[in-house]
Amino acid sequence: MTEKKSNCSFCGLPREEVKILIAGVTGHICENCAKQANQIVAEEFSASPPENNVQKKLELKFPIEIKEKLDEYVIGQEEAKKVLSVAVYNHYKRLNSDTSDDVEIEKSNVVLVGRTGTGKTLLAKTIAKLLKVPFCIADATVLTQAGYVGEDVESVLSRLLQVADYDVEAAERGIVFIDEIDKIARKDDNPSITRDVSGEGVQQALLKLLEGSEVNVPPQGGRKHPEQKMIQVNTKGILFVCGGAFDGIEKLIAQRVNRQTIGFSTSDQMNIDNDSLLQYINATDIKNFGLIPELVGRFPVLSYLDPLDPNALKRILTEPKNSLVKQYEKIFKIDGIKLSFEQKALDFMVTKAIEYKLGARGLRSICEAVLTDAMFELPSTKVKTLKVTEAYAKGKFNKSKMSKLKVA
Ligand code: ADP
Repeated sequence: MTEKKSNCSFCGLPREEVKILIAGVTGHICENCAKQANQIVAEEFSASPPENNVQKKLELKFPIEIKEKLDEYVIGQEEAKKVLSVAVYNHYKRLNSDTSDDVEIEKSNVVLVGRTGTGKTLLAKTIAKLLKVPFCIADATVLTQAGYVGEDVESVLSRLLQVADYDVEAAERGIVFIDEIDKIARKDDNPSITRDVSGEGVQQALLKLLEGSEVNVPPQGGRKHPEQKMIQVNTKGILFVCGGAFDGIEKLIAQRVNRQTIGFSTSDQMNIDNDSLLQYINATDIKNFGLIPELVGRFPVLSYLDPLDPNALKRILTEPKNSLVKQYEKIFKIDGIKLSFEQKALDFMVTKAIEYKLGARGLRSICEAVLTDAMFELPSTKVKTLKVTEAYAKGKFNKSKMSKLKVA
């Protein structure tokens, strides 16, 4: 068979005169024409925005695309990633939707339940980055109801405004991550005879933010002052993602699903049982844990995060787009030093993270403990490679301050 000479089917240039020639079913396209075609498509879309698109352009991605992006940064947590991708997609679809037919899609605020350091914040942060919307993190434990010492709930929105450079419209489509939501659960044995300042009161105050209303926000956060000028923010389009460890919720799940847990044993076996129970979590459990029903009602989406096992921790060290290993390799590369890790050295670091009950969050301090000496000394030497072996990692770690800490 004689080979047919290929030309770009659009501009006609032959194979030799272009850099890339992409083959289609019946023709070809060169890199220049592909670029032009891309431009035409982009212009076409920006010229005809949806009719009600008064807000700034939002790059809406399909759930599968969102999940794929999350996969680049977050290891495991398949269920949470899927649920969150759908919730986020629906939320932003809702913002762009037409409300003239009286069908209003309800907000899909999310609660993520899982131990500390399993990726709850990372998930929310990654989504905000992907969608290019303002994102802020608030800690539920510092919030109090109005009039008490602490931060008013509105301060959460002050932070979002700050991140959005006081562009109210942008802030109104942002994502707020409220951490430790479980810590404001109502406690039956609350000693306060007057009011539950830190628990139920805060939950009541949060309701106002979550349900989608106009909120007066002090621009600088903190407490409201009568003379302070307020900024009005509508929370209708803000997606709230809350995270919490909900320690002990497994028992409530077990009770509900009629499974007996084996007393208060802390053996590993018990933990494994508890861990797998989380997947059955539902709204009733977080209500029984102490979140008021009105608040639970504002969180239609609920998902869980798996505890991180050694295998997941090792993957976290190496696989994510900005994994710690990749970050340190880059730091050393700037000084012309090639850094590499022996598998056993990585295993050692994972073992330490588990031993010190630090989870993924501890991996960074362990890396620092192992690599600080090298980062201090090597740039001023002629050494051009550093292979971190198990013995090297052990030696450095055992000499570090961190190793003197008591294992929790
Ligand atoms: P939390 O569940 O307490 O919100 P974070 O999301 O803040 O935990 O996790 C702390 C750090 O640990 C993150 O910045 C990230 O580096 C790492 N990490 C935790 N879980 C994962 C995961 N599933 N995949 C990748 N990195 C993770």
